[in-house]
Amino acid sequence: MKGLTDLHMHSTASDGQYTPEQLVERAAQAGVQVLALTDHDTTAGLEEAQQAALRAGVAFIPGIEMDTEYPGISGNFHILGYGIAPEDPTLLSLCRELAQQRSQRALRIFAYLEQRKMPVSPAAVEAYAGGAAIGRPHFARAMVDAGYVATMREAFDRVLDTPEFYAIDRKKPHPGKAIQEITAAGGLAVLAHPAQLHFGPEAPDWTSLLRELKDAGLKGLECYYSTFSPQETARYCALADMLGLYVTVGSDFHGEKIKPDIQLGTGIHGSLLKAPRELPILRELEAVSASKAQASAIGKT
Ligand code: AMP
Ligand code: FE
Ligand code: FE
Ligand code: ZN
Repeated sequence: MKGLTDLHMHSTASDGQYTPEQLVERAAQAGVQVLALTDHDTTAGLEEAQQAALRAGVAFIPGIEMDTEYPGISGNFHILGYGIAPEDPTLLSLCRELAQQRSQRALRIFAYLEQRKMPVSPAAVEAYAGGAAIGRPHFARAMVDAGYVATMREAFDRVLDTPEFYAIDRKKPHPGKAIQEITAAGGLAVLAHPAQLHFGPEAPDWTSLLRELKDAGLKGLECYYSTFSPQETARYCALADMLGLYVTVGSDFHGEKIKPDIQLGTGIHGSLLKAPRELPILRELEAVSASKAQASAIGKT
């Protein structure tokens, strides 16, 4: 049987539980043969993951997941980038800017939790972040430890995924900007977990939105995602087909402590097992990396 493909996962370089090396080893053990590391707003884990993939004998695609914001649409508007050059200067400077906004937001979250009578210590949150940029899951874990909530799920439901939270959240770039940066860094841009978008009355419809993003350079849609029902997957596959976008598959694995139900490669209770084993986007990614390798070989002669 051909191995699994999983193009969406997180390491300790952002808010995942495992180091890039541990993550790649686990993915390989779970039967994943093609994987992409897609940490939030950072390329810091890619080098380590690439080396680990080489040792484990699995195909590795350097990736990123960028948080964006579109007027009239709420929810997680995330753009995945595949085959990016990790050291691309413009991408790195955008990541640095996003990291700065994150650390400023972290200060607002400490104040917000204090106001809600659930203060957490910066040391505890920083320990969970382990030197990486601080994200909401790190706060959620500290809130569980302090006994304010029983689970991370409850921390999000009651405190970190609420309208009051979004009032203090950071300002994010427009998805068109993230798509352009990813494309300029040699990558292919894909819209992550489309079912997590909530269209307000002012928002365009799905087809117009995807057309607009495609004009900006979008190449694909994450149609197979751990939490999607077969109906959701079918709907996004039909949209991708109609608009000429690649179909991708991703678990969004963060580790059992952070998202307990999600398994690498297979999703929730095997929800990703129906994904096609041959994804056309992989051929384009191979072609891109082959031509880059050729260009750098030519550059060296
Ligand atoms: P941040 O980038 O710091 O705003 O945090 C975003 C991360 O928090 C996501 O990638 C998820 O890992 C997690 N997250 C966001 N919303 C929820 C939720 N409702 N339940 C559990 N985890 C969530
Ligand atoms: Fe995350
Ligand atoms: Fe996401
Ligand atoms: Zn993700």
